[in-house]
Amino acid sequence: MKFETVIGLEIHAQLKTKTKIFCGCKTSFGDEPNTHSCPVCQGLPGALPVLNREVVKKAIRAGLATNHTIRKESVFARKNYFYPDLPKGYQISQFELPICEKGYLDIVADGNKKRVGITRIHLEEDAGKLIHDQDIDSLFDANRCGTPLIEIVSEPDMRSSEEAYQYLTGLKKILQYLDVCDCNMEEGSLRCDANVSIRPFGETKLGTKAELKNMNSFSNVKKAIDYEVERQTELIENGKIVVQQTFLWDANKNITIAMRSKESSDDYRYFPDPDLTTLIVTDKMIDEQKDTLPELPKDKEKRFSEQYSLDNDAIAVLTETIEIADYYEKTAKLCGNAKSASGWILTDILKILKEKQCELGELKTTSEKLAEIIKLVQTDKISASAGKKILAAVEETGKEPQTLVEELGLSQVSDSGELKTIMEKIFSENPAEVERFKSGDNKLTSFFVGQAMKESKGKANPKEINRIIGELINS
Ligand code: ADP
Ligand code: MG
Ligand code: ZN
Repeated sequence: MKFETVIGLEIHAQLKTKTKIFCGCKTSFGDEPNTHSCPVCQGLPGALPVLNREVVKKAIRAGLATNHTIRKESVFARKNYFYPDLPKGYQISQFELPICEKGYLDIVADGNKKRVGITRIHLEEDAGKLIHDQDIDSLFDANRCGTPLIEIVSEPDMRSSEEAYQYLTGLKKILQYLDVCDCNMEEGSLRCDANVSIRPFGETKLGTKAELKNMNSFSNVKKAIDYEVERQTELIENGKIVVQQTFLWDANKNITIAMRSKESSDDYRYFPDPDLTTLIVTDKMIDEQKDTLPELPKDKEKRFSEQYSLDNDAIAVLTETIEIADYYEKTAKLCGNAKSASGWILTDILKILKEKQCELGELKTTSEKLAEIIKLVQTDKISASAGKKILAAVEETGKEPQTLVEELGLSQVSDSGELKTIMEKIFSENPAEVERFKSGDNKLTSFFVGQAMKESKGKANPKEINRIIGELINS
């Protein structure tokens, strides 16, 4: 029997705010344990939460950019469970009335366009962190308690691991564009749980799902889904049934490990948090975010394709972040050649970024300086290979390209008088070659150009040399 894969994703994204969701503690990652905590986020009895306004703004932004309806009234609820990383014994989340509802994201997977429904985006707080890999007992760090999260819950609309991968990639790009989340999966600021089931093709009822957790990269999400689909298919083909369970992905062994049977929402005894009032969102708050949304990835990609005639691979890289897109557009505008700007960034600038392991903003080669180098090459002031040398020198010293051209003596000789003198010398030294050339052996052109380059120490403009060779031979 042939089975269809059904996938729904739950994504937790840490909001990029200075302070936590219900107290004034800092949200910094990697600091000394338990240095950012207070009675509220430690869950001391009687301490009262106060909602951080910035968190609401960011959730609205995320909702708008993914086509959601923003609820004018939403409610915080307590999700009750015991775990040592949760001092209060409950997590403040949203349940029945989340801040954003009914959104979607358009993706392209395996060449097909597809719309993935998003059920909701709700606000919640993160739990603390347990540190297990110590000699002594497990340790607890409260720094992460109360870190603001949005949970983005998709409809079970995806039909392959590739669709899940594209959905994740698309969502990540949007969240980064919005500056809502830094999406660093290693630091846990973006986490994804995948719900996976299978069913016979044609069946409309959903099959029993397994929940996959602990995947710290998108490629692991893909691998885990593929593994799970295979496991479920084998079970059903052997007359067994899939039980609802939660699995951890083991990235070293490439297998999933059963963790626990999945609890249902009834087990959490959700109820509205009496410490927090209904969250009221006004039209003004929504408009404020609408008015300040950046150009979103899909729009930018489309514009780059139309405005600069770039191919899809170039567009994917040049719109990866707003920073690289801005850097590209500025360079293209300043040098007046969109194609060259793209070429230089895709090869040379990316290489420098990789070598230096740094961000675009930290480069000494600003878009102004890169544009200057491109112009020097295009106007034949320097050769293409000299351009690469100048780029390396700019990145090293931060000096102006023109200054470096002079300092390094790399300016190209295009002066026809000077080049003619050089060529005449070469011709008089190589009379046999001149004869052969005159009788039609065109291969000798490259020989003469090579000689001219040698004579000029690489500074002769090859285009001009070619022209002069023709001129002299014909005269
Ligand atoms: P739970 O209460 O177990 O968390 P939800 O109904 O809230 O389940 O759904 C959680 C996620 O699982 C959603 O993204 C949803 O689309 C997805 N999902 C639900 N049922 C299935 C299924 N049978 N197969 C695959 N994904 C599913
Ligand atoms: Mg769930
Ligand atoms: Zn606190």
